[in-house]
Amino acid sequence: MISNEIINIAYIIACLFFIIGIKNLGKPATARRGNFQSMIGMAIAAAAVYFESNPDATIVTDKGIADFWHTGFTESGFLWSFVALAIGAAIGAIWAKKVKMTGMPELVALFNGFGGLASALVAISTSLLVIAHFGTTQEGDAQMVETIATGLTIFIGTMCFSGSVIAWAKLAEKMTGRAIVFRGQNIINGLILLAIIGGIVLYVMPNEIINPDMKFIVMIALAGVSLVFGVMFVLPIGGGDMPVVIALLNSISGLAAATSGFILENTALIVSGCLVGASGVILTLIMCKAMNRSISNLLFSGFGAKDTVSSKGPGAEPKAISVEDAYLILESASSVVFIPGYGMAVAQAQHVVRELAAKLEDNGAEVSYCVHPVAGRMPGHMNVLLAEADIPYEQLKSMDDMNPTMPMQDVAIVIGANDVVNPAAETDESSPIYGMPIIKAYEAKTVFVLKRGKGRGYSGVENELFSMPNTLMLYGDAKATISSLGAEFAAE
Ligand code: NDP
Repeated sequence: MISNEIINIAYIIACLFFIIGIKNLGKPATARRGNFQSMIGMAIAAAAVYFESNPDATIVTDKGIADFWHTGFTESGFLWSFVALAIGAAIGAIWAKKVKMTGMPELVALFNGFGGLASALVAISTSLLVIAHFGTTQEGDAQMVETIATGLTIFIGTMCFSGSVIAWAKLAEKMTGRAIVFRGQNIINGLILLAIIGGIVLYVMPNEIINPDMKFIVMIALAGVSLVFGVMFVLPIGGGDMPVVIALLNSISGLAAATSGFILENTALIVSGCLVGASGVILTLIMCKAMNRSISNLLFSGFGAKDTVSSKGPGAEPKAISVEDAYLILESASSVVFIPGYGMAVAQAQHVVRELAAKLEDNGAEVSYCVHPVAGRMPGHMNVLLAEADIPYEQLKSMDDMNPTMPMQDVAIVIGANDVVNPAAETDESSPIYGMPIIKAYEAKTVFVLKRGKGRGYSGVENELFSMPNTLMLYGDAKATISSLGAEFAAE
């Protein structure tokens, strides 16, 4: 028999693992460990839930186990829980293994959505169970908390699900990735929100005012309207703002888990939901700051609905250079900084970058890497790729550390980065990226820009860096170009 105290201690230990895990996820060097610690926390929490719901599971006599297996295990639904766990774990493991790094935001979007849906289903099934069992929703203070939590969870969970599905469809190009805006959109959203608040209020009303049959209808209507709200919430957000909205939806899915924890009276679920909710909000704010946007501007402005062109125009024709000539400049460089962007992820050039860096170091150059907080398409995108290629962490420099030393760098190699090095963010007030802090690559003595052609960055604006006097373009796929540069060193 496992006592409640032991169960509670297990929950506290699980929460400690979650907190330590999240802390370690904050640095590339400890991220794997953090992931593993969080997994242990989850395993402890799952085991605690199992023993809490079925204390008899600890009976160690043969008869006890056999009895439990034949009766409790199948009849209580545990069998089906384990079957569901096995199927879910298998799908998750295969999917996570197969997904390309550039497809991660889509995958995370779906994970968030299913998390929200799971919480909403917990709320709906608990509500149905209570009505079926007591013929009514229960009343009293404790039940009031549970009933409010149920209403909130249905709203938050279902809107998180439908919003995440739209976010996935936009990122996976199943629909336009742009912001979809129309007249009166904010008013319609406001009215939907009012309907949702009304629905939650009706749901928590005493049974004398709203009878259980009515409550059932209110619950279904609340779920339906919340689904519509989730769609409307994400439609006006598009383009480069999508990863931020995914961080926000991640936070919302945490909130749904926390409120469902009140329904199930499960402390670990409340704590872990709050941890996800809080970390998602912090991440959202960090990303907004790095893009110099406010959260309200991001959610309600319909940014990216139309094409934006810099008032400065395309500028002079960029100067292209051959790999052989670039090699001659690199060979005499004593300091080189790599600035990776989304194109490095597309080209999967991180391994050849490390090989070229080793050759530069053998040649006596000091090598560093400068990563912009919003380079790529998801937070930490470049850090993950560079870590995958075993690039030493001490060579990774933040934008704030690197920028003051940029004029001393002999060569800055911009690998498939565009917006994060665009000087228009500093000089062109009409530019949509104006005010975003950038890596000042243009201050290096020589800048190599590796890209395939005239493609714009995610914001869709021209980049005057490409036509600056100290910039030389190396056209082609970044992996092929870096490999060719490496081959030049090897040929010497
Ligand atoms: P950008 O999207 O600005 O630019 C990517 C560049 O890579 C393009 O100019 C493209 O040019 C080039 N490219 C694409 N494929 C290849 C290839 N195979 N080889 C070489 N070059 C290639 O990337 P950045 O990383 O500079 O900026 C990220 C953008 O995403 C910012 O606007 C940021 O605000 C936004 N964003 C990022 C978030 C995040 O979490 N990281 C969150 C929210 C927004 P070409 O087609 O000519 O090759």
